[in-house]
Amino acid sequence: MSDVPSDSSPISARKPIEFRPLPQRFDSDIEVPDIDLHMHSTASDGGMAPKELVALAARRGLSRMSLTDHDSMEGIFEAQQAARAEGISLLPGCELSVRWRNQTIHIVALMPEGAGDALSAGLRQQHEARERRSHEIATRMEKLGLENAYERAREQATLSGAGDRPLSRPDFARALVKAGIARNLQEAFKRHLGAGQKGDVKAHWPEMEEAVGWVRADGGIAVMAHPMRYKLTRTKRGELLRDFIAAGGEGAELVSGFQNIDRARDLARQFDELGLYASVGSDFHFPGGPLAPGSMSPPPRTKVPPVWCHPRIAPFFAADAASM
Ligand code: AMP
Ligand code: MN
Ligand code: MN
Ligand code: MN
Repeated sequence: MSDVPSDSSPISARKPIEFRPLPQRFDSDIEVPDIDLHMHSTASDGGMAPKELVALAARRGLSRMSLTDHDSMEGIFEAQQAARAEGISLLPGCELSVRWRNQTIHIVALMPEGAGDALSAGLRQQHEARERRSHEIATRMEKLGLENAYERAREQATLSGAGDRPLSRPDFARALVKAGIARNLQEAFKRHLGAGQKGDVKAHWPEMEEAVGWVRADGGIAVMAHPMRYKLTRTKRGELLRDFIAAGGEGAELVSGFQNIDRARDLARQFDELGLYASVGSDFHFPGGPLAPGSMSPPPRTKVPPVWCHPRIAPFFAADAASM
């Protein structure tokens, strides 16, 4: 028998997670804070079960995280149990698909009190919207020559570890690759499923304003996900962020995975002008690639306040840190 602790060794045998105080500002001396507020599990299009994701996050030294599956909080309970066992703090969350000027936009909902009536009803609506959308995408993919598209995408979802969650575009992308209709995922999105292509069905998503309303009604903080990833000019991005704030949005992601530092600095100036809180996240989906929980560029130096200083989030992490 070896003394190396196995995965089933008692919690006390593990090195406790250090709850360093979270920085109040993104100063020059801060490298990556040990926090990641944007990740996916098999409850949406991620490749790890919620408890495995939390265990990996803890192994990588994160002390605070959020699980933000697309249009679902089905993984939160399992993730919370795992976070308690690992001694890390997990803020409930999700990533909502919404419409703005007929474009798909993603909103990260950080929910210190969990989902209440408003967001729960909203998530049921999103679930149905996704189901309807997946059949519509399947019909369109069959016209491209992918026979039994729905079943083939379902098979890909099952292979990635998903239960009976609604299908998402990556499931169809993998089915296209497997059938030889696309060479790789990138090409499947570029030619068939990405913005402006046949499989980009967005008619079912609610208006941004409506979805932000669900988050606010249940005491959450609405955060604009990856604002640099939409094909928008700086001016248009400003319009998006202003409309978002008018709807009740309070934060935006300053750091999303790995990104260019000059663009992040410019984004910080825009957040500062608008009075937004800044969030950070890896947008991790799958192990084995270049990303992992906590993988992201260091934030630029800015006086924009981190979202964990928000008066409805700070007490959540403080209470968790005090109880561990
Ligand atoms: P859906 O939520 O069904 O609209 O699917 C969107 C998801 O597809 C995103 O959250 C990404 O995980 C993934 N995705 C989007 N664009 C690409 C791309 N070009 N290559 C690979 N995955 C992508
Ligand atoms: Mn995704
Ligand atoms: Mn997204
Ligand atoms: Mn995401």
